[in-house]
Amino acid sequence: MNVDSSEIQKFEALAHRWWDPEGDFKPLHDINPVRVRYIEDKTPLSGVPVVDIGCGGGILTESLALAGATVTGIDMAESPLAVARLHALESGAQIDYVATTAEALASERPATFQMVTCLEMLEHVPDFGSTVQACADLAVAGGHLVFSTINRNPKAYALAIVGAEYVLGLLPRGTHDYAKFIKPAELAGAARNAGLEVVEIIGMRYNPFTRGCSLSNDVDVNYLLYARKP
Ligand code: SAH
Repeated sequence: MNVDSSEIQKFEALAHRWWDPEGDFKPLHDINPVRVRYIEDKTPLSGVPVVDIGCGGGILTESLALAGATVTGIDMAESPLAVARLHALESGAQIDYVATTAEALASERPATFQMVTCLEMLEHVPDFGSTVQACADLAVAGGHLVFSTINRNPKAYALAIVGAEYVLGLLPRGTHDYAKFIKPAELAGAARNAGLEVVEIIGMRYNPFTRGCSLSNDVDVNYLLYARKP
């Protein structure tokens, strides 16, 4: 299975903090409006089947559901899924949360989803190419796919690990493993190998002091990749 159990363990342990906007997942809360807008911009979400891969406690998943999409959220960590289900009860969002992998879901429900989102997840799996292939398999022909991850270079190491985990304490130490960061060309290559057409790669800039987030041409650290399935 394309799952790193030590990675899953990290997210299990932090699950109870998922929805604390000042807690361990603060950056995900801060960047969420920008990424939701980016996704909505690609295709109308109302009534559309969407799958969110590596959904965790459901920060993105819930926004997509509240925007009108019919959402399935999958993750391999049980506690974040439990938190996600409880939070959806409170918010009234209707979401099908399932503990599975992208690969397993793709073999059960191929060519099902109009939009596939897989954000901040690929840098936690042993083989991101396999996840990207599964995402491609889950999409319908003409479907849309949005991925996001962290680039691999000295600046990304300085900001995403030294800065975020050690200096500012924005994320728990050990959240990210530098060796698993992914260069845009590597992610684009995986997308093309999976038969996808890469439409756009765009940077996402996050300022931890102002907590502002915006899209940018700078893909040095955080970035999104948008692809279509022919
Ligand atoms: N996508 C969410 C959460 C990102 S955190 C967001 O951006 O808000 C990364 C998530 O990926 C965690 O919840 C972790 O449990 C999950 N994950 C890691 N490896 C996985 C795998 N192989 N299959 C499914 N989920 C996985």
